Amino acid sequence: MADKTQTIRDDFRKYLFSCIRPFYEEPLVIERGQGSTVVDSEGREYLDFFGGILVTGVGHCHPKVKERTVDQINKVQHTSNFYVTEPPVALAKKLAEITPGKLQKTFFTNSGSEADETAVLVARCYTDNYEVVAMRHGYAGRTTLAMSMIGDSQYRLPGAGLGAGVVQVANPYCYRCPYGLTYPECELHCARDVEEVIRTSTVGRIAAFVAEPIQGVGGFIVPPKEYFQVVAEIVRRYGGIFISDEVQTGFGRTGGKMFAIEHFDVEPEVMTMAKALGNGMPIGATIAAPEVADSIQGFSVSTYGGNPVSTETARAVLDVIIGENLVKNAQTVGAFLRRRLDEMKERFPVIGDVRGMGLMQGMELVEEGKEPAPHIVNQIFEETRKRGLLIGKGGTHGNFIRVTPPLNVSRSDAEAGMKIFEESFEAIAGA
Ligand code: PMP
Repeated sequence: MADKTQTIRDDFRKYLFSCIRPFYEEPLVIERGQGSTVVDSEGREYLDFFGGILVTGVGHCHPKVKERTVDQINKVQHTSNFYVTEPPVALAKKLAEITPGKLQKTFFTNSGSEADETAVLVARCYTDNYEVVAMRHGYAGRTTLAMSMIGDSQYRLPGAGLGAGVVQVANPYCYRCPYGLTYPECELHCARDVEEVIRTSTVGRIAAFVAEPIQGVGGFIVPPKEYFQVVAEIVRRYGGIFISDEVQTGFGRTGGKMFAIEHFDVEPEVMTMAKALGNGMPIGATIAAPEVADSIQGFSVSTYGGNPVSTETARAVLDVIIGENLVKNAQTVGAFLRRRLDEMKERFPVIGDVRGMGLMQGMELVEEGKEPAPHIVNQIFEETRKRGLLIGKGGTHGNFIRVTPPLNVSRSDAEAGMKIFEESFEAIAGA
């Protein structure tokens, strides 16, 4: 077993691009998963509280999802969108029902990057403007345009030829306010500065503002309640539309609402989705108000976009999320998780800030004077792994830990995970 694991690790290094960087000093080789747990190639079990980057929202190999996927595989696996099949049509109809406001028509792709590309394309077609306002610390994907929208040089790769038509604005990162101000006395200077950026750094008219309601990769930065309302008003005054990137935050992740933007009382003209929609089956979706969607005049095709297997899987995922009331579970168990993380913050001075919503919780690890401490994150990673818990990382400084169990995580698994997390902090505090 150990030999086989080592061979996989060696071949990984030899045959895959070196820009793919697994977690841990020794990469973890996962063989199987069920519900909230995964099993490695040596038979060790772990609670999976990262879910492959907030993807396995209904847990690994959910029986109802598996059954519908297999049924569809047995019917027809691929047709391309030169033919019509029922699953993408029914899924699009469902998405129109569960998304807020006028969002109604969907274009399916295979990833979050493509969903964001499509959103910018449709915004440009609809507004006849070109420039896009994105946020610092934001993440949008790995295509050239998506990479240009990222507000973190770690992912804006040298040689990619980035930049055209994207400007970035400061973000409401209150723990490290870019202006050194404090909310609410700041009167949302960061939101009001969006107008200044449009006036000084664009042609004065924009196609769109693109934002994750809660930044994921950037470290679960939660804006003040009225931030998006202030920005949306400015964006629309300058000809742009609002694109809510729900790739990470969608489908109940933030607890209590199906989509994170609903917590902020703003209705976007376009929304993008991926990750938890397919629970691991590759899928991306861009949903828009009908007049926005239909502004793309020409013809556009995605060979696998709307594939019957991925869309039937997504329909099953939504049936589970809705049928098992997981948006509520994310709120309830999320509140428990948050309480436990807040308690740990009181005990361990390395925990500088705890933030997030629902089952999208995390913490910044710091040293004296809020100095980011990514090396301590690495230690916590090794300690939690030893004890059987998988967590995620993030943040511009690499010092953010992401804790994102599946939406259907049981209270007892959440408790077990938090116990391991706490023991890991004790271990490094005592080291
Ligand atoms: N948008 C957001 C908010 C994301 O978190 C991600 C992926 N981390 C993407 C877009 C890109 O998705 P993908 O990796 O599926 O292309």
